[in-house]
Amino acid sequence: MSDRFDVLVIGAGVAGMSVVHSLQAQAPQLRVGLVTLQAPGQAGATPWAQGGVAVAWGQDDSPALHTQDTLAAGAGLCRQDAVDALTSEGPLRIQELLELGADFDKHADGTLELTREAAHQRRRVVHCGDASGREMARALARALPESVELIYGQLTRILVQGSRVVGVQLDGQRSLAAPQVVLASGGVGQLFAATTNPAGAEGQGLALAYEAGAQLRDMEFVQFHPTALAVQGHGANLPLLTEALRGEGARLIDETGEAFMAQYHPAAELAPRDVVAFALWQHRQRGHQTLLDARALPVAQRFGQVHELCLKAGFDPAVQPLPVTPAVHYHMGGVAVDLWGRTSVQGLWACGEVSSTGVHGANRLASNSLLEGLVFGHRVGQALADADFRQAACLPTAPQVELRQDPLAMARVREILWSGLGLARSQQGMEKALAALERLRDRLTACGSTAHTVASLMVSSGLFRRESRGAHRRLDYTQTSPHWAGHTLLVPGQAVQLQTLQANLSTPDLLARSL
Ligand SMILES: Cc1cc2nc3c(=O)[nH]c(=O)nc-3n(C[C@H](O)[C@H](O)[C@H](O)COP(=O)(O)OP(=O)(O)OC[C@H]3O[C@@H](n4cnc5c(N)ncnc54)[C@H](O)[C@@H]3O)c2cc1C
Repeated sequence: MSDRFDVLVIGAGVAGMSVVHSLQAQAPQLRVGLVTLQAPGQAGATPWAQGGVAVAWGQDDSPALHTQDTLAAGAGLCRQDAVDALTSEGPLRIQELLELGADFDKHADGTLELTREAAHQRRRVVHCGDASGREMARALARALPESVELIYGQLTRILVQGSRVVGVQLDGQRSLAAPQVVLASGGVGQLFAATTNPAGAEGQGLALAYEAGAQLRDMEFVQFHPTALAVQGHGANLPLLTEALRGEGARLIDETGEAFMAQYHPAAELAPRDVVAFALWQHRQRGHQTLLDARALPVAQRFGQVHELCLKAGFDPAVQPLPVTPAVHYHMGGVAVDLWGRTSVQGLWACGEVSSTGVHGANRLASNSLLEGLVFGHRVGQALADADFRQAACLPTAPQVELRQDPLAMARVREILWSGLGLARSQQGMEKALAALERLRDRLTACGSTAHTVASLMVSSGLFRRESRGAHRRLDYTQTSPHWAGHTLLVPGQAVQLQTLQANLSTPDLLARSL
């Protein structure tokens, strides 16, 4: 077989696999390659998702209500048409997942069980115990068409000729030709010292898209989950203790046994995710330990995955409170795309966590990201079917990239971002972080340079936005300001700029800017 594909999809999480399914339905004749670091079904953050997928499914619910909640969480930065697409197409995508065999929890009468999560007005989270992502990934992976070629490898370059994509480089040396490339490479959590994200979530796709000329948007918006299990010796990755534990009555206590959340918010444990995360940060700053007491809950029966993770880390939730810390969980920013996943580079598409569709604004509503992967992955597949599949006559020569990273330098990046771009930010802290990253530049060469690029762009965007909004909380600018009610936009080769909401990207805008 030659190394020429019609479409290469980079990433086999919910977003990448949704693209493949949708493409198969629209244009089965295309030669499609699916590039991933791990096997589909086990790849990326998708199988780690615990809570489930938010969707307007219940009798008392509607896409309009789901839209309302999503916009409220997004703190003024959501793109309304993208949110409408998310909420109105969500039920169709869940129906398709059920038809693929996803075995979500059901009532005795066969209807789907729906749970309620913080900031949702209705019960609308479709789930499979506390291993919902695993079930979704299993169903999507099992049904992957045989014609799709699985390619294990690491994306190291996006090859561009003139102003359009012509292929990719994998593993620092091997080039594959493709006139259409879809980035579905997930998040950035592994660039922070504490994260719930799996290995590989280093934002490489973001950096490579930027190097290929793509615009990035809202890079400063990082969501912190309040309750990661604070264990030693696990590197950056910490096991997640799902929000549903608090929903079912688990309490946040300190070393004195006091349930401290009421000091910080009237809704206590059930306050919005960013409020609880910040309260934990403050309580820890005051010298306290933070623990989740789930002893009164049937954790083993109701939260099998959490139970397993705790036992593996040496904690028994039935007999002891669990040490918890906030940790980086989700990146709202990403490669700027239109409603069909087109980036500002012709032939380059993006969906899932690596993209910025505008559905999450400044703060993601819980359980909306799996849905985003399903809906916008499907949309990319639909739009791709009509794309231009002419191959470039030849590929540009791409210098080899050394794959080895300096582990100490990467650990330093994690510390820098954790302290400089953490839960509480300031000009001084972010300037210090930028300077520290600059000093590290020479050690972050080759493959590690993507970490440097992404980290620097995130901090620059955070410095630029002189307000607090959604997940971007500054100690020196504590208010939300109408002046900043817009997106931070990174156009390669230019300084960070503010993009007004009215100028939300349509495809012609995006392409015009890149030419
Ligand atoms: C612990 C945890 C719990 C969560 N719970 C929920 C939840 O309950 N509900 C919800 O909606 N969301 C949840 N999320 C968020 C959600 O899981 C992710 O946002 C979503 O799965 C991202 O899907 P994706 O397809 O964009 O990327 P991923 O699933 O992360 O897949 C990324 C893919 O890209 C590949 N890749 C990455 N870099 C490269 C490279 N350089 N070269 C080649 N391949 C590459 C990876 O191998 C993988 O195949 C949770 C996240 C975590 C970490």
